[in-house]
Amino acid sequence: MRVEMSTTESLSGRRVALYGGTFNPIHHGHLRVALECYEAIAADAVWFIPNATPPHRDQPITANEDRQKMVELAIASYPQFQLNTIELDQPDISYTVNTVSQLKQSYPETEFFWIIGQDSFNKFDSWHQWQNLLAMVNWLVVPRPNYAATYSDALQDYVMANTVVLKKTQNSLGCGKIFNIDTTPLAISSTEIRGLASQNKACDFLVTPAVSCYISEHKLYQS
Ligand code: ATP
Repeated sequence: MRVEMSTTESLSGRRVALYGGTFNPIHHGHLRVALECYEAIAADAVWFIPNATPPHRDQPITANEDRQKMVELAIASYPQFQLNTIELDQPDISYTVNTVSQLKQSYPETEFFWIIGQDSFNKFDSWHQWQNLLAMVNWLVVPRPNYAATYSDALQDYVMANTVVLKKTQNSLGCGKIFNIDTTPLAISSTEIRGLASQNKACDFLVTPAVSCYISEHKLYQS
C-alpha cells in the first residue's frame, strides 16, 4: 500500500479523513468537499482512496492508472491531501469494510473518518457489512445538490441514534458517529465531465488544469 508522505510512526495519534471514490475523473466537487471536511475536523490529512473494482456500481471503463494519475495531479500542490493505493493494490473486489479494517490495523493510533456524499450515503445499506462498517469509523456526510437524505428504516434508525453535532473543541470522537458537514454545494459529477469530454468539449473549471490537460492528452472518455 502506498501512502505518500506518511509512516505508521508519524501518524500515531493523528486524525485522518478517508475519501473513497471512483474518481473517474476527480473533480472540484471532490476537492472542495475534501478541503472543507479537513478543516471542519481539524484533520492532519485526507487520504484519497480510488477504488479498483467498486462493488456498488459498474466497473469503471477508465484504467486504474489513469484515475490514479489524475488524483495525483489534482492534489499535487496540497501536502495535506494524499493518495492511498490500498484498493488499487488489491486484485480482488475492494469492499470498504475490508479497507477500513486493514487501515485500522496498520495505523492503530489514528482516528479515522470517512467522507461520503449524500447520494452514496442514501444507499449505504447496500454496502457489504454496512452495520459493522458504520461502527468502525466516524462518518462525514456531505450534501450533494439534488440529493435529499432518504434512508431505509434500518439506516434511518442508525442515523437518528448516532448523528452528533461537531464541536470545534472535541478531542477524540470515538467511532460510529455521523457528522453532517455543511460543505459548499457544487453540482459537479464525473458523469458530466465524461459526457463533455466525449463530445470534445472542455472540462476546464470543473476539474483542475492538470487534470483537464491529462484528459485531453490521453483522449479519455472519447468513444
Ligand atoms: P459519477 O458521476 O461517475 O457517479 P461522482 O461524481 O459521483 O461520479 P465518485 O468518485 O463516484 O464521483 O464519488 C466519490 C464520493 O464523492 C461519493 O461519496 C460521492 O457522493 C462524493 N461526491 C462526488 N461528487 C460530489 C459533489 N459534487 N459534491 C459532494 N459530494 C460528491
